[in-house]
Amino acid sequence: MSEIPFYAQQGSECGLFEHAWRQQLPLLIKGPTGCGKTRFVEHMAARLQRPLVTVSCHDDLSAADLVGRFLIGNGSTQWSDGPLARAVRLGAICYLDEVVEARKDTTVVLHPLADDRRILPIERTGEQLQAPPEFMLVISYNPGYQNLLKGLKPSTRQRFVALSLGYPNAEVELAIVQTETGLPQTQAQQLVQLAKALRSLSDQDLEETASTRLLVSAGRLVASGLPMRQACHAAIVDALTDDATTAQALDEVMRALF
Ligand code: ADP
Repeated sequence: MSEIPFYAQQGSECGLFEHAWRQQLPLLIKGPTGCGKTRFVEHMAARLQRPLVTVSCHDDLSAADLVGRFLIGNGSTQWSDGPLARAVRLGAICYLDEVVEARKDTTVVLHPLADDRRILPIERTGEQLQAPPEFMLVISYNPGYQNLLKGLKPSTRQRFVALSLGYPNAEVELAIVQTETGLPQTQAQQLVQLAKALRSLSDQDLEETASTRLLVSAGRLVASGLPMRQACHAAIVDALTDDATTAQALDEVMRALF
């Protein structure tokens, strides 16, 4: 069996995921970018010994991209399953990342799959795929990016059990940074302190604040030999803003700490 990817729990989300999977309920994970949503799903799929099919949704993603299409080649036309149809047939966990980005027609295929019918109608072939009990649909979205046009419709969100993830507390985040980067505790601690200080700044013209992902990136640069400040500037400050004044303010927060 393949190794289970490391995931440090923020609360009791692993138990919730497992119960939802057993009860054949789809799951909606809400949370800011870089807070561990993808890693969590990877971890749970490995724990439950299910294949994982991940789709990063974007504004051009259509129902056909998810379900499949006829491909023409060598003088014949052949049906080719999209990732969602493949996941249903495999009894996999299907993770649709940033689902609100996808085109609206995708909800038509998600609805019958996300309620107790658990079917994926493939209009083009006339097939109706019945999801096996092992299949699970997991979607995520970032409420921070949500705008009035793009929020999930109540009829969609009410089909899902919901879970909110934020950034982990300092103790858990320290364990994550240490495990993911191999840095000694003192340096990992500095990164976690920097994140705490940056997160406490009020808006600061930032769309998003320092995520666990950014801390891990900075930590990896440090572990590879880059000085701490340079690593944090590149992996955290410049990743968060293009504005010189804001970058300066973030650098000052860093210099106050180390
Ligand atoms: P998201 O999907 O929410 O954008 P990811 O799951 O891709 O975020 O997390 C980004 C990175 O942060 C991961 O690759 C991992 O290194 C680290 N990470 C964040 N949270 C955790 C966690 N709880 N346990 C282990 N690693 C984590």
